[in-house]
Amino acid sequence: MRTLKRYSRSWLLDRPFVIARSRSTEIEVVRVELHQDGMVGVGESKPTSRYGHSIESILAEIDDITAEIEGGLDRQQLLEALPAGPARNALDCALWSLECALEGTTPTARLGPVPGSAIVTAHTISIATPEEMADATRRELAGGARLLKIKLDDDRVIERMQAVRAAAPEARLIIDANEAWPASQLEAWCHALAELGVEMIEQPLPAGEDAALATFAHPVPICADESCHTRDDIEALGDRYDMVNIKLDKSGGLTEALAMAALAAECDMAIMVGCMLGTSMAMRAALPVAAYASIVDLDGPIWLAEDDEPALDYSDGTVRETT
Ligand SMILES: [Mg+2]
Repeated sequence: MRTLKRYSRSWLLDRPFVIARSRSTEIEVVRVELHQDGMVGVGESKPTSRYGHSIESILAEIDDITAEIEGGLDRQQLLEALPAGPARNALDCALWSLECALEGTTPTARLGPVPGSAIVTAHTISIATPEEMADATRRELAGGARLLKIKLDDDRVIERMQAVRAAAPEARLIIDANEAWPASQLEAWCHALAELGVEMIEQPLPAGEDAALATFAHPVPICADESCHTRDDIEALGDRYDMVNIKLDKSGGLTEALAMAALAAECDMAIMVGCMLGTSMAMRAALPVAAYASIVDLDGPIWLAEDDEPALDYSDGTVRETT
């Protein structure tokens, strides 16, 4: 007999998280618990209004399929039963977690990376004034970060990045514009950022308006985030992007995320594993994708004021599963 519980929880951030389209000081997530034979599987997801999701819509999607999940629906059947998105993610991760617990193992022990191994993760710098971004950069470096993901919009792009680079002459820098750039600036900004040693640019143009990416030689690799949710998106992106950012809340779980990683590799695209804000429970569920990723960006929990049952350790710019 399998039983499903679902609930939402709010978490305060310890500092505002500012990106091109939003500013957050608190987040709300949905958690799913699946209980069976004395074991429990857990999953967590977070809605993104950009994709039309809310806490209410996630809970409603879960409620609609609870009887089938409790009746034994498996992960492959779930792929057909629900569309990609955070509701399917919470359920898929809970199913992985339960399946492994019943076998006396864990998803990472089964899928990789080697449990306990330290993986370099990006640490995010929010949008602020150039001086504030330089200060935040120095704080992250002092805390051990070595790969920084700089959030940008379409304002003071080069000025902000010059300030960050001056504060971090040696650090690896990637940037995320969250769809905020006009195509008219793309080439000039990409070349200037290449000169600043930026090693990757994430989603510069709006999804659906990214055709301009196909018509110029990329001076730095460009990664699809908002343009890439599931396997269905990947092949069409090959002439525009060099890399895809796989996130469980977009793919609708680890099962689809692993299939995306395999398809991206077939299409000669590099892989980044990313996250929405969330607890370490949600990030741990994405760790198996890190085994295939050249960039890991799973710093969501370090934005929280507290993380009730830390499943991951963050130190010296890396993330590792607690043992
Ligand atoms: Mg992004």
